Amino acid sequence: MKKKLDVVSTSKPSRAEAERAVKTLIEYIGEDPEREGVRETPKRVVKAFDEYFKGYGLDAGEILAKTFSEVGDYDGPVLVKNISVESRCEHHLAPFVGHAHIAYVPDGRVVGLSKLSRLVGVYANRMQTQERLTAEIAGALEKHLKPKGVAVMIEAEHFCMKLRGVDEDHAVTVTTRFGGVYKKDADARESFLKMVKD
Ligand SMILES: [Zn+2]
Repeated sequence: MKKKLDVVSTSKPSRAEAERAVKTLIEYIGEDPEREGVRETPKRVVKAFDEYFKGYGLDAGEILAKTFSEVGDYDGPVLVKNISVESRCEHHLAPFVGHAHIAYVPDGRVVGLSKLSRLVGVYANRMQTQERLTAEIAGALEKHLKPKGVAVMIEAEHFCMKLRGVDEDHAVTVTTRFGGVYKKDADARESFLKMVKD
């Protein structure tokens, strides 16, 4: 039993080791890690990391497992706009924040609307690029819900652009991913873009 625990501890650093690493960074920038305001910072930063990166412990399949087939005669797209996105770029760990707009055309099955924002959280709470985040959300919907089509758009501001001397502090990055009818049919794409803007 003890041996097994040792194997686990070598594959993933302990909490104490993570806190020690944050303390090293504090020392690296020339701060005094024992100063009163800073002494508890390693603990707080590791706790914040647990929150920022909780997506690694979440499973899109579980979130999308419960579906409903009673949609009456409804055969149009389902669009949820302005879902908050808060993620961290994998290059600098700087936040990027904005909104996701997600549409799908059901093939007889729908999911609870709150599930779409939880789905965003699964992938946003990881080290990310906006491009991959967009693709992963669309891919998960295709895989688990099997809709006739899916469209995902993310609009976000990247703090690594704002803060690192790049002279683009109001630039918004827009990414899109279309699948199924949204990929095949220009009118469907057009209609999605119009509904997002309206
Ligand atoms: Zn970055």
